[in-house]
Amino acid sequence: MDARRHDPDQVRAGGPAGDGTVVDVLVAGGGPAGCAAAIVCAAGGLRTVLAERADGPRDRPGEALHPGAESVLAGLLPDGFASVVGARHEGIHVGWGGEPRFEPFGSDADGPWRGFQVDRRRLDGLLLDRARQAGAEVRMSCRVLEPLVEGGVVTGARTRGPGPGTATIRARTVIDATGRARWAGRALGPAAAGRPRSPRLLIRYGYALGASPARDAAPAIVADHTGWTWTARVEAARYQWMRLDLVPEQRSRTWLPEEFAGLTPEGPPRAADVTWRLSGAPAGPGWFVVGDAGAQLDPSSSHGVLRALLSGWTAGGLTAAVADGANPHQAAATYRQWLYEGAERDIHHLAGTYARLGARGFG
Ligand SMILES: Cc1cc2nc3c(=O)[nH]c(=O)nc-3n(C[C@H](O)[C@H](O)[C@H](O)COP(=O)(O)OP(=O)(O)OC[C@H]3O[C@@H](n4cnc5c(N)ncnc54)[C@H](O)[C@@H]3O)c2cc1C
Repeated sequence: MDARRHDPDQVRAGGPAGDGTVVDVLVAGGGPAGCAAAIVCAAGGLRTVLAERADGPRDRPGEALHPGAESVLAGLLPDGFASVVGARHEGIHVGWGGEPRFEPFGSDADGPWRGFQVDRRRLDGLLLDRARQAGAEVRMSCRVLEPLVEGGVVTGARTRGPGPGTATIRARTVIDATGRARWAGRALGPAAAGRPRSPRLLIRYGYALGASPARDAAPAIVADHTGWTWTARVEAARYQWMRLDLVPEQRSRTWLPEEFAGLTPEGPPRAADVTWRLSGAPAGPGWFVVGDAGAQLDPSSSHGVLRALLSGWTAGGLTAAVADGANPHQAAATYRQWLYEGAERDIHHLAGTYARLGARGFG
């Protein structure tokens, strides 16, 4: 057996990886991408530490999942995930520069494909539990600070928490899954960070309580040259909206899309920067950048969580292959090509849809 492989029970018996400990894999970030990577690595017998800066799973956007996410989640969560699934839908009402019409996802011999809403706090919690069960050591309230770089190679990172003080974790592979925080890109400089691939895009989103029967069967996205609005039922009597303005617009804190006019806002609206970004250095010998940290598009691309899960899974699989003797340069090149091909295809497609609206800056 490869010396880098471990029995998951031995890690538990041996206690947590501590200051200066060498592990096989350090995963920074415990969202869908980081959990997928940690599950695949730990299940493959690699000693894996996942560091997440939050003290527990949080409510976060990213709840409308593409039908393709179902089989990926089934592979990662063999005990199922029905408990986190809310409303289901067979397609989306799309009015992109014209009258809305229903666009089904498609179907096969088993019937129509269905997208679904998930409770992100609970989905992220299930994925973290599965990573633990697979043998990963999950450290919550643990922020990854600067990377350790030796001879141009990332060899680990300094971390803070849980509790006071810092620790050093050396790892044969470091996986950046820090989402929009883009830890490695920021720490390793502008070339690694990559440049924005769209004009600056700010999205506003929020939730509303009440009844909006028109939105119960399927979400809707309606766009014109001023921007787009997404509306969806998340669960019974609870709806989500998102608004991305392509033309600057002042909106009050109580603004709701017209179709939710009779509903009660649930808390103040929130905002997020969803400018498209592609990491300039998504992989090298001993490191991978996965999920939003590797490639981020705005939510109209509709599969951020699916891409996060798939990229974490792919990077985890390549990490295990390297531990089994595969060439690390080749593994990094394979990941870079996989990520860039998919992301460039999505960027090209999405830029075309914005250009058709007459939006500026999407060449
Ligand atoms: C408003 C909005 C709506 C969206 N709607 C959808 C949708 O309907 N469907 C969809 O598929 N996608 C949607 N997305 C996109 C989706 O949320 C993301 O693509 C997905 O969450 C990315 O997963 P991730 O694991 O890469 O990152 P995240 O889910 O962001 O997880 C990153 C984790 O890293 C942790 N972290 C950050 N820095 C550090 C550090 N230094 N040390 C340790 N931990 C750290 C964070 O706390 C976080 O837990 C939406 C995004 C936004 C902004």
